[in-house]
Amino acid sequence: MFIMYKNISATILFIFFTIIFIFQSAKTYGQALPQKCATEMYMQQLYAKNPQLKKSLIDAENNETNIQRTQAIITIPVVVHVLHRGEPIGTNTHITPQQIESQITILNNDFRAQNDDITNVPIVFQSKIGDTKIQFCLATLDPDSNPTSGIIYKQTNQPYFSLDNNVKFDTSGGSNAWPADQYLNMWVCDLRNFNGDNLLGFAQFPNGPAETDGIVVRYEAFGNVGNVSLPYNKGRTTTHEVGHWLNLIHIWGDNVCGNDLVSDTPTQEQANFGNVVNGAYLCPGFPHVTCNNGPDGDMYMNYMDYTFDKCMHMFTKGQSNRMNKAIVDYRASFLTTKDLCVPPNISPDTNVVNFELVSNNTLLNSINILIIGNLSTDVEVAVYNTLGQSVLSATYAKSETATAMKIDLPNLKTGFYYISIFANSKQSKLKFYKLQ
Ligand SMILES: [Zn+2]
Repeated sequence: MFIMYKNISATILFIFFTIIFIFQSAKTYGQALPQKCATEMYMQQLYAKNPQLKKSLIDAENNETNIQRTQAIITIPVVVHVLHRGEPIGTNTHITPQQIESQITILNNDFRAQNDDITNVPIVFQSKIGDTKIQFCLATLDPDSNPTSGIIYKQTNQPYFSLDNNVKFDTSGGSNAWPADQYLNMWVCDLRNFNGDNLLGFAQFPNGPAETDGIVVRYEAFGNVGNVSLPYNKGRTTTHEVGHWLNLIHIWGDNVCGNDLVSDTPTQEQANFGNVVNGAYLCPGFPHVTCNNGPDGDMYMNYMDYTFDKCMHMFTKGQSNRMNKAIVDYRASFLTTKDLCVPPNISPDTNVVNFELVSNNTLLNSINILIIGNLSTDVEVAVYNTLGQSVLSATYAKSETATAMKIDLPNLKTGFYYISIFANSKQSKLKFYKLQ
């Protein structure tokens, strides 16, 4: 009798907490979470306008092949177009250069299987992890071979952008693509679906029109520092969209138990999402068996699923082969193009750090630096552009007391620079971004 009573209590408690759980999930989903990815809808639009494009892609679909490249690793130059509303830098849509750089780092880690959270991949899937040997850089040369930061900041009057490609054209308040055979264009903006709800991103598959080629990502989902929002705050939207740009299909094949044309990803019923419980973002539990894919179940930790950023950790070897095949079949210019990611030609540091920058994000026509420790010599200052070309040099007389100094930066264009300090027989440099 006592045991029975206990069971009834437990059952009532269980039902009670289940109701709370369902209520909380529904409430949080209904209010906050943006639509994940609209690539499929975008491509349907494109195919409707251009049926031949769909046919050519289908004709070329013969699963992944193991592609042999002459280059061990290829690096794809990226240009990021930021469409903002004129807010101060670092506010809302006007994201910082540091936020943009963080996204490039994430892409490189994810595509090379060097992400810290790869250890969360269940043991049964670890042997399937693929290193794509594809890397990315912010372009250092623009289409006219001039130095560039690889970032275009542009103020727009558009309240937001959607799937209509307005973001990709100057004439509609967006920013024109750089040549798509030399650069991966990324547009970062206030992105919404046609209902006006927030949308994380969409991509154009290979072989489409050059002037709209690339990916579009919502500003709050780009990178992992600055204006990023949970649960899409680790840059995995961009990893997912670049996967589409390199011909990857959603892991559930955009169909019930569909086919993603990759042999080492399990067939799965549909997209996996995370759960929101009392404000906490929870990943799916392992295993999640659907479509007779037991015992290991869905590969919900794959970048081409729909879970939260912190739940995504891997591409497979098959996906890596499919992406590399897409480069050979559709994007071969990236294998032969001139190097648009030239690293700066600056002599290496002779000391780790002996100065710091003050107010890194408000650099207009001057930069404040602080030398750490005492000064025994004059201070030689040099500023280099992203190619390592000297654009400014000056000598500041040593001072017994002042180690803080203001360096004037007149007539420097907007963009990334390196400032090098030589003092006390030591030299070191730091990267900074000069605003207009
Ligand atoms: Zn997608």
